[in-house]
Amino acid sequence: MQTIIAHSRFQTSRIDWAQQHHYMVAPIPCCDFRRRASKLPSAPGRAELAGNPTRVIVAAAAASTATGPVAVPHWKQALNELDKPKDERKVMICQVAPAVRVAISECFGLAPGTTTPGQLAESLRRLGFDMVFDTLYGADLTIMEEGTELIHRLQSSLEANPHNDEPLPMFTSCCPGWIALLEKSYPDLIPYVSSCKSPQMMLGAMVKTYLAEKRGISPNDICMVSIMPCVRKQGEADRDWFCSSGAGVRDVDHVITTAELGSILKERNINLPELPEGNWDQPLGTGSGAGVMFGTTGGVMEAALRTAYELVTKQPLPRLNLSEVRGMDGIKETEIKMVPPSGSKFAELVAARAVAKAGSETTANGSAIKWDGGADFLSDDGANGLTLRVAVANGLGNAKKLLTKMQSGECKYDFVEIMACPAGCVGGGGQPRSTDKQITTKRQQAIYNLDERSAIRRSHENPAIQTAYRDFLGEPNGPKAHELLHTHYVPGGVEAAE
Ligand code: SF4
Repeated sequence: MQTIIAHSRFQTSRIDWAQQHHYMVAPIPCCDFRRRASKLPSAPGRAELAGNPTRVIVAAAAASTATGPVAVPHWKQALNELDKPKDERKVMICQVAPAVRVAISECFGLAPGTTTPGQLAESLRRLGFDMVFDTLYGADLTIMEEGTELIHRLQSSLEANPHNDEPLPMFTSCCPGWIALLEKSYPDLIPYVSSCKSPQMMLGAMVKTYLAEKRGISPNDICMVSIMPCVRKQGEADRDWFCSSGAGVRDVDHVITTAELGSILKERNINLPELPEGNWDQPLGTGSGAGVMFGTTGGVMEAALRTAYELVTKQPLPRLNLSEVRGMDGIKETEIKMVPPSGSKFAELVAARAVAKAGSETTANGSAIKWDGGADFLSDDGANGLTLRVAVANGLGNAKKLLTKMQSGECKYDFVEIMACPAGCVGGGGQPRSTDKQITTKRQQAIYNLDERSAIRRSHENPAIQTAYRDFLGEPNGPKAHELLHTHYVPGGVEAAE
């Protein structure tokens, strides 16, 4: 039997995975872990210790509340609560991330995307959840907030004020793998990263505030469970400040991975492929095709541009499928021209910028990214529009390459998506294991298919989102939205700050 030496705060889900796969887990204290891990290649992930049968997983999980292998894994804690008599347990609510729905069929020996999102919702209801919500709703909220934030940053840059606390370029923030790299290795870039919470955490906050208020349930009586493709989402949920309804009441209590859910369903004889179509609960169960796109590399960018373009131009994006940011290339880039309507605030700013521009490029000297002050904002076709330069980094290796180029000034972008896992969440560490080398491409295609089949393909057209802003949140990026849907980052990482 091989041994995994795990940091004593190692995520319980990973310890559980290791035990299921017949590894012996030997937890060791932090200092000893660091001493032993320091002799390993520095990249996070798994590494073989040369000439030694011991296999070491370098602790990538930072902020789990787990205290070692004796801690009950989160999937088990969720099941324990579900299995209690209904009148003795909390109200059990779950949410399901985009990438889960295309990969869960593989747990039943079927190709990606074979079972439907409706069947998945039905399986969770049969497992005992009282309400089944869709993380697509959280993704649509993310786009509303992130799109609006991008517009604010563009406006302040057009006002020739690019060095405020919301500078450009703006980086996406929904991936905890990227946020961990940012905090530990690129703390100078923190102001450039969107302050939006991830879809998981936005939906968790809405459940424990908006839903709790609407249904008259105490947030303390809700157990919120996320089904995620990701082994970092529990660590994200465990950040101390993700308690929107009050201190100590977590927005997300437990995270179960796709692979764990597959095992649970099979163990409970819930045969997903044979289930009828189920429904998602409301008001947090409606999502758009843009929300589905969060499940793969380039998808967040595509979803964001569908909304940001319309916010600036007041016209729908002419082409919804942005092939330039699709596929599995390591770094993808494109430009989007946006012409604001005459008389709009944006049109005024662009015109003023055109006058002021003449030879006054405002390179951000001394800042962490050598941005050119939006020199290419003015499109060269005489229409006085903006040319937004965007890039997508597929996996952390490519992200580092891209950041090096941006820091040296070799390339300049205004909006950048970074996802830590190659292929994005469809390739997440919590997905079912596969020997098929094309599996992530197949899962990605299944994501594109779901988007194509969606009745609503733009986040801002989601009626449930419109209702939430009208009845509860107020304006996107407004005070209440900011309080519930935005976050902050910790230079050096959460562990270093403890
Ligand atoms: S890309 Fe990977 S680390 Fe990032 S959210 Fe998706 S599954 Fe998690």
